[in-house]
Amino acid sequence: MKRVFLCAIVMLLQYCAFAQAQKPFAIVIHGGAGTIRPGMISAADEAQYKQGLQKALDTGYAVLEKGSTALDAVQAAIVVLENDSMFNAGKGAVYAANGTIELDASIMDGSNLNAGAIAGVTTIKNPIMAARKVMEQSGHVMLARHGAEMFAEQQGCDIVPQSYFWTTKRRNAYEKQNETKGKKSHLGQPGNIDEKYGTVGAVALDKQGNLAAGTSTGGMTNKKFARIGDSPIIGAGTYADNNSCAVSCTGWGEYFIRLAMAKAIADRVELLNMPVDDAAKQMIHDRLQNMGATGGVIVLDKNGNISLQFNTDGMHRAWKKSTGESGVELYKQ
Ligand code: ASP
Repeated sequence: MKRVFLCAIVMLLQYCAFAQAQKPFAIVIHGGAGTIRPGMISAADEAQYKQGLQKALDTGYAVLEKGSTALDAVQAAIVVLENDSMFNAGKGAVYAANGTIELDASIMDGSNLNAGAIAGVTTIKNPIMAARKVMEQSGHVMLARHGAEMFAEQQGCDIVPQSYFWTTKRRNAYEKQNETKGKKSHLGQPGNIDEKYGTVGAVALDKQGNLAAGTSTGGMTNKKFARIGDSPIIGAGTYADNNSCAVSCTGWGEYFIRLAMAKAIADRVELLNMPVDDAAKQMIHDRLQNMGATGGVIVLDKNGNISLQFNTDGMHRAWKKSTGESGVELYKQ
């Protein structure tokens, strides 16, 4: 009798280990949507974008593979992209109208709906890490500007001079915009909006079945008066809930805020039982499109289903699932 009981326990443990090993895990990242067409950039730049995405993807995936949390994977992937000057986040971020670089970021844990965000910071090397600290250590959800910087420093985040973020590519884009100033945009309304995208984001599902999402950006070139976009706003640029999905957005932030884009997708999945692909398509190709705005989203649900939607010419994106499915793409298929 004792032996039968022991056998049953061993079999149960083996089954549990098997079931755990079979649980899907996945990561999806983006590096911004916009006018991204074949032939528009050099082959060398194209290779660099792909390399950067691949590195971030592999870094995040390795975190999931060793059994760490979706939150850690999202953070790890975004840090790689923030440190890569090709993308509009951290080093390489775009210039605001006053010639400074002002960064926004947010992160959310789908297992408990905890979230953290920072906005309008100018000296934090990795904004996504500061957003995570806000979530875990501040008792608040969003901190802005100098206060956020003071808090990040107290928390041991790397603080750097503004010059750390500067790149010739972004400076040229900023100067080009200013040369044609006046002809271009109204207050707070971007001129050639597609030149301004390039935000980075990640969504992940870990072996424990938890979802997380994060987004980090320099915002839009020439943004004025401490403008804050959708990226640090929970429910607009970022959302994660184990009951629905994880979402990170990129695009014309003012419209993503008005649509509460990330939460609108999550609500469709949770309340209307829509597959993530249908929910993302409806929000991007109907709702956003009908408002005359552009951008894209990456979405991942607790079963590992993904959707990558954009109504621009391209979106830098990459995905990797425990099922073996993987890819890195820049353009429309
Ligand atoms: N959504 C960002 C913002 O409006 C820009 C982007 O995605 O590139 O700040």
